[in-house]
Amino acid sequence: MSFEALGLHATIVKAVTEAGYTVPTPVQAQAVPAAIGGRDLLVSSQTGSGKTAAFMLPALHKLVSAEPAPAPARTPAQEAQSARARGERVRFTAAKPKMLVLTPTRELALQVTTATEKYGSYMRRIRAVSILGGMPYPKQMQLLSKNPEILVATPGRLIDHMESGKIDFSELQILVLDEADRMLDMGFIDDIEKIVAATPADRQTMLFSATLDGVVGSMARRITKDPMVIQIASSSNRHENIAQRVHFVDDLSHKNRLLDHLLRDESMDQAVVFTATKRDADTIADRLNIAGFAAAALHGDMHQGARNRTLDSLRRGQVRVLVATDVAARGIDVPNITHVVNYDLPKFPEDYVHRIGRTGRAGRNGLAISLVNHAENMNIKRIERFTKQLIPATVVEGFEPKRSAPAARTSTRPGGWKPGDGRNAAKPGQRSFSKPGAPREGGYNRDAAPRGPSSGAPRREGSGGGYRGSNPHPRSFDGARRTFGDN
Ligand code: AMP
Repeated sequence: MSFEALGLHATIVKAVTEAGYTVPTPVQAQAVPAAIGGRDLLVSSQTGSGKTAAFMLPALHKLVSAEPAPAPARTPAQEAQSARARGERVRFTAAKPKMLVLTPTRELALQVTTATEKYGSYMRRIRAVSILGGMPYPKQMQLLSKNPEILVATPGRLIDHMESGKIDFSELQILVLDEADRMLDMGFIDDIEKIVAATPADRQTMLFSATLDGVVGSMARRITKDPMVIQIASSSNRHENIAQRVHFVDDLSHKNRLLDHLLRDESMDQAVVFTATKRDADTIADRLNIAGFAAAALHGDMHQGARNRTLDSLRRGQVRVLVATDVAARGIDVPNITHVVNYDLPKFPEDYVHRIGRTGRAGRNGLAISLVNHAENMNIKRIERFTKQLIPATVVEGFEPKRSAPAARTSTRPGGWKPGDGRNAAKPGQRSFSKPGAPREGGYNRDAAPRGPSSGAPRREGSGGGYRGSNPHPRSFDGARRTFGDN
């Protein structure tokens, strides 16, 4: 799936390509075509899923595709200038935005505005401005006087401007509520209701929220018409029967040796090893075959027939180790897959959830292991933020990294994890497995009974934080060594 295939205007495709995006994220793949088609959307997805582009790309597409205004539009600032020249008293003409994005925090509003500038960099007619609490009024008046097409605002300050007649929503076409659950948590419900009531009934509404339950859900349904509901795998999908581990490695040779060792684990029936690129999938499958594993590659460059044959061999048990890229491995449902190994980390935290879901099928237990170097610790944290589960680092005897795992990541359990221990035992509020000195790993018993839910502490992002906030180049998620989107 490409951005062109989503039906986006060529200038937008050019801008996202330049931003380094090669494939749409899952939320984008679903939301963009529906929003271009004019549907209202209710989307449950989190920071880090690519949700900003999921609403901004179709919105920009709509704005750029709209018929241009019949007469050359004069901005309120130009009107004021000619009135002054005529010696008339200048009245502020209200801005008439076409799109409004409401966000809970200033930081998020600024990030959305910056992203909009990036996605709209090849559009001449579109301007986006942020209207935020804490920003000086004269500055905001100046921004509004340019009659921007897109306003990105926090609810409180927006209400101030509406009440003093500075903004007129009669021409609004698109309303977005970003992180709606957080806006409600912050007590903005009345402001939101007031803002929504000031917009035309025939607007398109897109609401994004970590959850669509409870108060958010009822508000969401009240303000949308026949919405398409998009649920992206989230923390509710906790994979409680899948144990997750990180093993730190020093270099590629350490990683390869450890992979071979892990695949010789007696408890392993079948495994899926994920790589970032098709080329690596082929190379590693070849190497594993030479080393005596019944391995096969699966990726998007293979013909459908070859892919089907590989999947059949996997189902029949003739292939024990499948080396795959994300897209190719979506939806594989083979109950005997006991291990998932992230040879490379995925580009998006959501893909991590899809990957580990290849094991632990049919009510069995599974083990998901990520092989990472120290530079990737940040990426593991982003995955943890997304899944709201901690992933402890463990050490395999004989494969200790030269540099031990960051102290905050090593397990407190004196004996390491026990066979059959399917969960990541973080207590609510506990950030880390803090005792230094990593335990030795025992074995893994897929038949052991589950022991109850993981209690990984839900950690709220700080304002505007999260995956995007903490990494200015998140598309290089899985390390600088590879090209992305090579699925
Ligand atoms: P968001 O969920 O909107 O906060 O996006 C998280 C980060 O992912 C942002 O920094 C985006 O620049 C980046 N991003 C969004 N969509 C894509 C994509 N299709 N490919 C690569 N990076 C993306």
